[in-house]
Amino acid sequence: MKSIKILGLFITLLLINNCKNQPQPIGATITFKEEEKPFTTEQKELIQEMITNSENEIRTLLPQLPDSIMVAVEIVDWDLDVVGGVTGRTETNSPPFVAIQISEKYPGGVTKAAQTALKHTIFHEFHHLSRGWAIQDNVYGPGINIATVNEGLAVVFSEEYTHQSMKADSPPEAAVAAQWAKEILELPEDANYQHWMFEHPDGRQSIGYRTGNYIIRKAMENSGKNVIELSNTTPAEIWELAGYTQ
Ligand SMILES: [Zn+2]
Repeated sequence: MKSIKILGLFITLLLINNCKNQPQPIGATITFKEEEKPFTTEQKELIQEMITNSENEIRTLLPQLPDSIMVAVEIVDWDLDVVGGVTGRTETNSPPFVAIQISEKYPGGVTKAAQTALKHTIFHEFHHLSRGWAIQDNVYGPGINIATVNEGLAVVFSEEYTHQSMKADSPPEAAVAAQWAKEILELPEDANYQHWMFEHPDGRQSIGYRTGNYIIRKAMENSGKNVIELSNTTPAEIWELAGYTQ
């Protein structure tokens, strides 16, 4: 009886020790939110494979990407045609959590949307995680000037490495972009995020994203640095490299 107890203790200790030696999982954990709109098995396999492949590629480019990323994917009925049927949010840095929405309204449906823009979106959102630009525990201060640079870096990183660009994130012609950049730098710190990043009451769309793309490319051109090198610098330094004093 006693020896059985000792053996039991020994096995328990062995198991605890084994658990301690297990490395933390590195890859993303993908969950499908299906309460309202279920995925087919084929869609899940496609999405799983695309996210895993994208993550592997991104880790070679951005080694500072946090481990154990959680990705929640859901089907929505939003009109996401201008961004290829997929959008996302980097919710928190700690734990690293990204939410992805795929539109069933996209021509060709969920599968076509995933094939069109899922990789592009994962590159964008994972860049945010690598830089600490998350909605709830954002490591940067407020201000459209900061959002413009952080979104611009993610947009350009995704464009450069997926070889795919979305019209909604593309800069307007240079003279207009330069004017928008000046406007952004003159904004108060608490300027309306919705207006300047998404829909301005004067009709302009995605000013921050499109100007960000222009500013990052300008900074790349002036400094000779690529977008990964620029991703290690502060928003203020990037504005300066693009030729603007704040
Ligand atoms: Zn973003």
